[in-house]
Amino acid sequence: MSNHQVLWLRNDLRLHDNAGLRLAAEAGLPVCIVFILPPQWISKDAQGLNRLGNAKATFLRACLIDLQRSLAAANLTLHILSGDPVTLLSRLTGRDGILLTAAPQAPEEESWIRQLSQQLQVQTYTAQTLLDREQLRPLLSDWPQTFSRFRRWLQKQTDLSIPADESSETLSLSDHPCSVSAPASWPDQPGADIRLPLNGGERIARQHLQNYLWRTRAVRHYRETRNRLTGTQSSSLFSAHLAWGALSVREAWRQLQAWEQVHGTSYSVRALRDELLWREYFHWSLVVHGASLFRRSGLRGCAEETVTETPAAAENWRAWCEARTGVPGIDAGLVELQRTGFISNRLRQNMASYFVHELKLDWRLGARWFEQHLIDADPGSNYGNWAYIAGVGHNPRENHRFHLNQQLQHYDPQLEHLRLWLPELQEQTVEDILRHQQGKYLLTSYPAPVAVTSDPG
Ligand SMILES: Cc1cc2nc3c(=O)[nH]c(=O)nc-3n(C[C@H](O)[C@H](O)[C@H](O)COP(=O)(O)OP(=O)(O)OC[C@H]3O[C@@H](n4cnc5c(N)ncnc54)[C@H](O)[C@@H]3O)c2cc1C
Repeated sequence: MSNHQVLWLRNDLRLHDNAGLRLAAEAGLPVCIVFILPPQWISKDAQGLNRLGNAKATFLRACLIDLQRSLAAANLTLHILSGDPVTLLSRLTGRDGILLTAAPQAPEEESWIRQLSQQLQVQTYTAQTLLDREQLRPLLSDWPQTFSRFRRWLQKQTDLSIPADESSETLSLSDHPCSVSAPASWPDQPGADIRLPLNGGERIARQHLQNYLWRTRAVRHYRETRNRLTGTQSSSLFSAHLAWGALSVREAWRQLQAWEQVHGTSYSVRALRDELLWREYFHWSLVVHGASLFRRSGLRGCAEETVTETPAAAENWRAWCEARTGVPGIDAGLVELQRTGFISNRLRQNMASYFVHELKLDWRLGARWFEQHLIDADPGSNYGNWAYIAGVGHNPRENHRFHLNQQLQHYDPQLEHLRLWLPELQEQTVEDILRHQQGKYLLTSYPAPVAVTSDPG
């Protein structure tokens, strides 16, 4: 007989619509609620990367502080621990306890939960997606190669609906003491100049959803503005809240449906819903394909090539990390990402395309760099999009190389974004920048491009 429960929160840092809290309340046993910072998030790998850059750490910390406050108001404690999840959780749960946690997405989480299940009683639940595994079962054995096939399948399922709210806010739970002492040592951020585009935490996330839909109704212009490089209302900015689960994606979906009922449907609302389906598609694609997505050949599944890194590759990688590739349109994005933890979708596409097709670097390194810095880093969406642009993910036959000079002319014709992040280029015109990044006429005041941007024909 179990006498206590451990609730391990990972990407469901919220009270609303939280199946873990509901399950814990239903079992009626005291609960020890934990968040764990694994060592591999903080320690640097051979390329000097970790998984918790300064902006991302600041955002996550805000999410955790907010959750700690909300739980404290219900006389519950959130224990923030640091260490190997398998070791800590087996000690905390022991033979007498039950471990509750969200179903895994990435192979690393899957491996932790598999190891724990071999020693303990573990119960998983859905926390990050619109649909449950059971609802998608017919697709999981034959995952659609393209997003449009996935969407068509969904449209045909007339009986498919988003599961009801797991509302747990009013549930009563009692605290179980934490039997291990492994307080998280938060990474230091000496001299970091962080300018988050938004703050973390459930309260802010839900307020943001209300503002975006109901108060400012910014959703009305989503389709027209979503490709802009600047602006806090150009796109929804839901991603970071969704990635840490401070906002339930089902709650966002339900609110969008409610908005449509009041204001009528529109291209914009449908486009935003489609993007949430992209997120769903990449999430389940990673669950289905597991570790194979992380190969250099990705989902193409051919034999792994042996890659000899050239001195040029090392030079290109260094220039990328220092935000000095010599291509201002790219460098501006690199600076923005390191300072704010966020860049627009358009810029992510341009930067990934430059990394893969011009710098000719291993796409996985670029994905890991994004993963370190993005406040919305999510393994399915991040690796899925990178593999897509590298031509080794979904839709591999399409050409995903972007025309970077055209992109600059189209999306930053007044150099508004570029000058915001590279103030040293205040005096230059768009023609100066284009000539420089094409290697035609170099600016004396800016590094020469390590790889010029010749647009594909
Ligand atoms: C190379 C690359 C890496 C990316 N890495 C991530 C990542 O780690 N985490 C992440 O959430 N998104 C990622 N994206 C997708 C997309 O860029 C962001 O979700 C979006 O820019 C976030 O801003 P928003 O919330 O305002 O998006 P909106 O345009 O308002 O879209 C609403 C929501 O739909 C989802 N969404 C939108 N576009 C995509 C997409 N292309 N793929 C999957 N979901 C999408 C997100 O949850 C987003 O919050 C990546 C895209 C590229 C090209």
